[in-house]
Amino acid sequence: MLDSKKYFPTLANNPDLAYFDSAASTQTHEAVLKAMNNYYCNFRSNTNRGEYDISERTSNALDIAKQQVADLVNVSSDSIMFTSGTTQGLNMIARWMKDKKRIIVTEAEHNANIVPWLTQGKSSADESIIVMPINDFDGLINLNELETILEKTSDGWQDTMVSFCATSNVTGVTQPWQDIATLSHKYGATVCIDFCQTIAHHEIDLKENQIEFAVFSAHKMYGPTGIGVLYSSFDFNDLIPLYYGGGAVESVTFDSVILKQGVNKHCPGTPDIANIIGFGVACEMIKYVGYSLIKLQELDVLKHLLSYGIDVLPNCRVFPANGFEDSVISIIPITGHSSDIGQLMAHTGVAVRTGKVCAHPLVDRISGSKGIIRISFAPYNTEEDCEKLCRELAIALVKVK
Ligand code: PMP
Repeated sequence: MLDSKKYFPTLANNPDLAYFDSAASTQTHEAVLKAMNNYYCNFRSNTNRGEYDISERTSNALDIAKQQVADLVNVSSDSIMFTSGTTQGLNMIARWMKDKKRIIVTEAEHNANIVPWLTQGKSSADESIIVMPINDFDGLINLNELETILEKTSDGWQDTMVSFCATSNVTGVTQPWQDIATLSHKYGATVCIDFCQTIAHHEIDLKENQIEFAVFSAHKMYGPTGIGVLYSSFDFNDLIPLYYGGGAVESVTFDSVILKQGVNKHCPGTPDIANIIGFGVACEMIKYVGYSLIKLQELDVLKHLLSYGIDVLPNCRVFPANGFEDSVISIIPITGHSSDIGQLMAHTGVAVRTGKVCAHPLVDRISGSKGIIRISFAPYNTEEDCEKLCRELAIALVKVK
């Protein structure tokens, strides 16, 4: 279901494209598109506001999709709400948690888990943001160092927030997020995890790990763009709504409003119906295929990349040093600029991502002004893609020398 281009219309319609930018966005599966199209063609209507047949169908489809998303991460559907994506989710969490005295993050954060905290007045200059460095060899943080920081800084449950991406969009390395959560909880911290780069590759059990907040986006997991999810173990009644309008209210006069209860009070306006339906199908599909098979299929792609010499390319180094274990491989050119290399490759029909990949602090540290060349793959990448990528990348790296 995931290991052939025929299921991914953009790949099927661009047969010469070697697409290695799945960490930016995976391709959308045809089953997702069919479900969305079915909504538009057969029961296109708003939800909950009509008693007629197609509006009922829409409401039911939304309930099913919500359950499908919740099931993938083993939580109740009352504990999740839809967002426009991980970025919106992290912004909301930063606004809710603005009174925390300090936020512990990793050096590998995406800007989406940095800027929302900065806008709440946090900063590393006054240690209201504390940054855990990652190891240049394996891309992991040091848990002993984290414990030392937590020990020093925990003066009450309200004070510390540990907010981090489980999987880096620069390295593809997944932190031991369960251990980080357990350790953080031991010292009374609140935990928020950005699973944006994790969800397509690794099983996530939010219930078992009792995370307070988690976010991810559908477009990184074969679903549509512009839709994501925010999970919280907190009672949504205790979180202040950040948006107001119709749909989230029980009653309104010109003097007062009674909001709905629970997660519904946070969801005014018409939901992104087609995208939510597509998101549900993407979750169902990943569950059906299973993470162990996905891993095997990704390993197959990696084997092809290695057999065509991804690990012996000229004029570059890989980051982290042990960087050939995940579905992201980041390469730093020794001479030349990453965007020049990206452009040379684009002319040959190879799509990779270059530059700072929205993780400025880490990419600045490891590459200076060069930026990285990020190769990210998925089960649909073929041996032919891998051969083309390695060939064109080697040529481009030599050209910029
Ligand atoms: N966090 C990480 C780790 C990401 O890779 C991304 C997307 N590149 C985001 C957050 C932001 O996700 P979105 O653009 O879907 O909001």
